[in-house]
Amino acid sequence: MKTLRFWILLLISVTMVCMLGIGLISAYFVIKNNLVNDSQIVNKEYSESVAQNTEKLFDRMLSTLTIVAEQIPHTMHDPTLVEERLKRLLISGNHFNSMSVVNSDGVVIATSPDVGITGAKLKSTGTLEALANRIPTVSSPYTATTGRLIILVSAPLWSEEHEYLGFIAGTIYLQEENSLQEVIGTHFANNGSYIWVVDEKGNLIYHPSEERVGDPVKNNPITQKVLRGESGSQRVTNTLDQDFLASYTYLPTSRWGIVSQTPYEVVVNPVGGIILKMFWLAIPLILITMGLAVYVANKIVFPIRDLAFFSQQLREHGLTKRPIIPTWYYEVKQLDETIHAYALEQKIKLDRFEETSLTDTLTGLKNRRFMEDIKRKWLETEQEFSVIMIDIDKFKLVNDTYGHQVGDEVLQFLSRLMIDTIASEGFPLRIGGEEFLILLPDKDLEKATSIAETLRQRLEVTDSPTGRPINISVGVGEYSKGENYSDFLNRIDLALYVAKSNGRNRVEQSINK
Ligand code: GH3
Ligand code: MG
Ligand code: MG
Repeated sequence: MKTLRFWILLLISVTMVCMLGIGLISAYFVIKNNLVNDSQIVNKEYSESVAQNTEKLFDRMLSTLTIVAEQIPHTMHDPTLVEERLKRLLISGNHFNSMSVVNSDGVVIATSPDVGITGAKLKSTGTLEALANRIPTVSSPYTATTGRLIILVSAPLWSEEHEYLGFIAGTIYLQEENSLQEVIGTHFANNGSYIWVVDEKGNLIYHPSEERVGDPVKNNPITQKVLRGESGSQRVTNTLDQDFLASYTYLPTSRWGIVSQTPYEVVVNPVGGIILKMFWLAIPLILITMGLAVYVANKIVFPIRDLAFFSQQLREHGLTKRPIIPTWYYEVKQLDETIHAYALEQKIKLDRFEETSLTDTLTGLKNRRFMEDIKRKWLETEQEFSVIMIDIDKFKLVNDTYGHQVGDEVLQFLSRLMIDTIASEGFPLRIGGEEFLILLPDKDLEKATSIAETLRQRLEVTDSPTGRPINISVGVGEYSKGENYSDFLNRIDLALYVAKSNGRNRVEQSINK
């Protein structure tokens, strides 16, 4: 059967394990949330900074073109001069992949590098847009006749008379090296994070995998949000079914959306390691706490265990010795006191009951049951002893003459005299109506006979409650080792009978042959 200690220790262990579990699980979610939030913040800041830098880059491109556009009209009569100028511009900055000057009819005046389209009339989206707008413009991305995906950054050319002369433009090849690529494509972290840019039509215009540039991503939930002009963060699954944490920023100048994203796995992967570290850190603390808990549990349990042990002892052996139990708390103190008080009360009751059951009420002498007990002990311990058996002579007559009451008083009188005569040398007993016995340890036949004789003689000369002395007949015997006790009593009884037969008021010895 399991003990209280077992259950308390089980309770402590289960509680500890649950606490650790709850702690680690909550820590898991808190840490994961923090990491996700941190990653969102980093991505958001990064997409915003890329957006700002891109915006600044377009501003610089447009202002450079606007400044140059003021000088071009003076040299427009000489295409070689224009070409020379474009070439210098192209080299001085890394803004554009090519530059051109186009007149108001869309005819190319000069290009750098020379791609052999001088004199041709352009009809591309970018050109038409620039001709129509007549203001500094960043075109939507489009596929040029060369097959390249490009954007056209242009500034209008005006004569001194405010006549529209065409535009100067720089082209940016979206899939090739240029300053736009540098601004967008610099990776900010080496953890699988990347940037992608979507144009107003929902096509990719920047992606780390160049082959994906130009792909439509209109259905991507982020594309839809960012093109509505929103900025924010969310968790997304890409076309390859990979989970990402993405932040997006809308770019008003070009109407692009810039998205910075980090693989979800990369963000939350460290959580496992952190939790494991926390677990190992917690183990010593848990062990210390467990130790303390076990110590306190023992302090609680041990008194109860002692009490249980004591109550078992009580049932099996009765009240012997009161054990010292550390009763430092209310329940145990009460139990301890109650059990003791109850056990003591029972013992007193039992002792009293035993006492009365061994005592004759009329005379206060011990009775036949007491004789049985003491006889058993003496036979066990091989105690040597003698017995005196007494019967009052003609007692019937006492009753008949003086009444039963006086008869009783005579019995009490005889008892007192017996006690007085034998003092502490033996045990006087009343074993029947007017029959008495004296057990005499360590007394041989002669000594016992002498005591019996003394008693008989004292009675002879002492007045009893009848007003005159009473006489007794006595049988005396010494117990022989190994003798049957019943037989022993019978032979003393016989001696008593002999005393009666020989005229009463005498002592007869029983000799064991
Ligand atoms: P003897 O022994 O000398 O032969 O004669 P006896 O008269 O003593 O005869 P017996 O032993 O047969 O009688 C015993 C009497 O003791 C009988 C009974 O009335 C009386 N007796 C027994 N117990 C009590 C008692 O408790 N009180 C009183 N008053 N008398 C008792
Ligand atoms: Mg008798
Ligand atoms: Mg008698």
